[in-house]
Amino acid sequence: MKETVTICEVGPRDGLQMAASIMATPAKCAWIAALAASGLREIEVGSFVPARLIPQMADTDAVVRFARAIPGLTVVALAPNLRGAEAAVAAGAHRISVPVSISAGHSRANLNRTPDEQVAVVAGILAWMQDNAPGTELEVACSTAFGCSIDGIIPQAEVVRIAAALAEAGVTQIGLADTVGYANPAQIKSTIRAVRAEIGPALVGLHLHDTLGLGIANALAGLEAGIRDFDAALAGLGGCPFAPGASGNIVTEDLVFMLESMGFDTGIDLARLLAARAPLHAGLPDETLHGQLAKAGIPRIFHPAA
Ligand code: ZN
Repeated sequence: MKETVTICEVGPRDGLQMAASIMATPAKCAWIAALAASGLREIEVGSFVPARLIPQMADTDAVVRFARAIPGLTVVALAPNLRGAEAAVAAGAHRISVPVSISAGHSRANLNRTPDEQVAVVAGILAWMQDNAPGTELEVACSTAFGCSIDGIIPQAEVVRIAAALAEAGVTQIGLADTVGYANPAQIKSTIRAVRAEIGPALVGLHLHDTLGLGIANALAGLEAGIRDFDAALAGLGGCPFAPGASGNIVTEDLVFMLESMGFDTGIDLARLLAARAPLHAGLPDETLHGQLAKAGIPRIFHPAA
């Protein structure tokens, strides 16, 4: 049995929120169907935020309902508050991802709350879900856990403190996000060790951006530190409108190539994953698509893990 690594494709959410133009709903759905057809089993398809803030996400309700019908797919939707969580549950999302910024500056810009106030919002969502959405999962993504373009250095003790407060509130799936892409591999390992020492297996995932070209190195550091859940975006799209300087997510295709080459089973067919760039390009023709594997092609020496 090969060891499994799970990749959550966040292109339709994180990837689109910085796109210059708006992807039409049918194009989004065609793209998500192609992503799922490659073997991706988790896709973050949108966020329930006011359309005036992020117009690219205005159709998230329809997109969640479409994605729900794809067999075997875990449909993830971001919700920054209880109202968003209610909308996500009503649309049928399997998992709600709630952001909690470690940096006070990013928290204010993105959520207009302090990090501790946002922890209380998460506790309120959990309490509501217990009665109203017992089958829905909740995960928290700790934004700016490795540095912030607004506040600069983020003390590791602060990451540990917020993660501990979330675990104390009952959150069982906590991820660390390098929202602006400032992390380095040594920092990734030491932060994972410190957070895990405090909250144990509640630390599940890593969300990485490639602003400084260290995204895949940081993913490898996370893998070596025991992380088996990664977010990534097809063609390396992405960024945060409230985190100046943030660039795209790590490239799903390149991450799958690395993992499968190392013998980790992702369940993803690399050729079909590359083929999912076509509906992305069709829906967003002006957007630059990134990725080394797409440039080089799948090398003849490649053997998938499974
Ligand atoms: Zn991100």
